[in-house]
Amino acid sequence: MILPLPDLPSFDYIRPKSYQQVSELLHQQSEDVRPFMGGTDLFVQMRDQIIAPKILVDVKLLPGMISIEYDHEVGLHLGAAVNLNAIAKHPEVIEYYPLLVEAANSVASYQLRNRATIGGNLCNASPAADMAPSLLILEAKLIAVGLNGERVIPVNEFFRAPGENALERGELLKRIEIKPPPEGWFGKYLKLGRNAEGDLAIAGVAVLGFPDQTAESGYRFRIALSSVAPTPIQALKAEEILNQGPISEESIEAAAITSRDACQPIDDVRASGNYRKAMVEVLIRRGLEEVWSAIQVGG
Ligand SMILES: Cc1cc2nc3c(=O)[nH]c(=O)nc-3n(C[C@H](O)[C@H](O)[C@H](O)COP(=O)(O)OP(=O)(O)OC[C@H]3O[C@@H](n4cnc5c(N)ncnc54)[C@H](O)[C@@H]3O)c2cc1C
Repeated sequence: MILPLPDLPSFDYIRPKSYQQVSELLHQQSEDVRPFMGGTDLFVQMRDQIIAPKILVDVKLLPGMISIEYDHEVGLHLGAAVNLNAIAKHPEVIEYYPLLVEAANSVASYQLRNRATIGGNLCNASPAADMAPSLLILEAKLIAVGLNGERVIPVNEFFRAPGENALERGELLKRIEIKPPPEGWFGKYLKLGRNAEGDLAIAGVAVLGFPDQTAESGYRFRIALSSVAPTPIQALKAEEILNQGPISEESIEAAAITSRDACQPIDDVRASGNYRKAMVEVLIRRGLEEVWSAIQVGG
């Protein structure tokens, strides 16, 4: 049986020529105007009658929106409208930021990743956004542009609540900047979904570690989680356990338990909150063991 789906509500489509034009539109008519890039979140919400914007502004062809630039000194600059397949197949992203490739490839299907953009994934501000944990632990900076020009928003200040981000009226996400990765680092993104492909995360964990003489343990770790709290979060207390060290089976176990305790998950169709917590502990332990075995100096 094929169930009838509601139609999309009607809307006007605009392809602007400048950021200024978009900011003016968004500023003047914020209730009625929505920017879009891949549309894979936006059109679903329109079809489900959650939102009904009168004007959709297609911003993906504005200058710089689909560019990927890497420089050893500066790091990686990703236009907000770069799609996830473009990230996963870019030679310098593969070489220097394999964690981002892993996160991008975890999203839905190949077909969807041709449309879905990194910026859309962030701006949608879903607790389950798969790109968010890796960008949190890579300490990405988000460049917003509005009527008064550009401003920088650290990614850990971007997510405010489910569906709410830190962009102000009239602002658009333009670029994601990630500094050069630390020497000797290794990162992992582990996602648990109901099936191997095409589903949102029940829980997602990103773990990164690198040798660092300024940390008591001689190593610095970063941990972030998705789908287990109202926003993607960093497990700062768990990171601290490992930074103070020593790194051992016991401290990895303690970090996994502390990460679990940082979660405030909901029960939903995908999983219960308790299951999510239990899985975070398992995934963090697994991720940390893998990262630790990859980064040990002289180990
Ligand atoms: C079948 C299916 C499976 C999916 N699976 C996953 C999954 O496994 N993991 C996952 O994380 N996500 C998943 N998603 C969600 C979605 O595909 C991603 O979040 C995607 O990256 C969104 O990017 P987009 O370009 O399509 O965003 P859009 O839909 O174009 O935009 C998303 C939101 O951001 C706003 N916006 C767009 N561009 C800008 C901008 N430049 N500045 C400010 N605001 C902007 C829009 O108004 C909208 O509110 C899935 C979606 C579908 C339909």
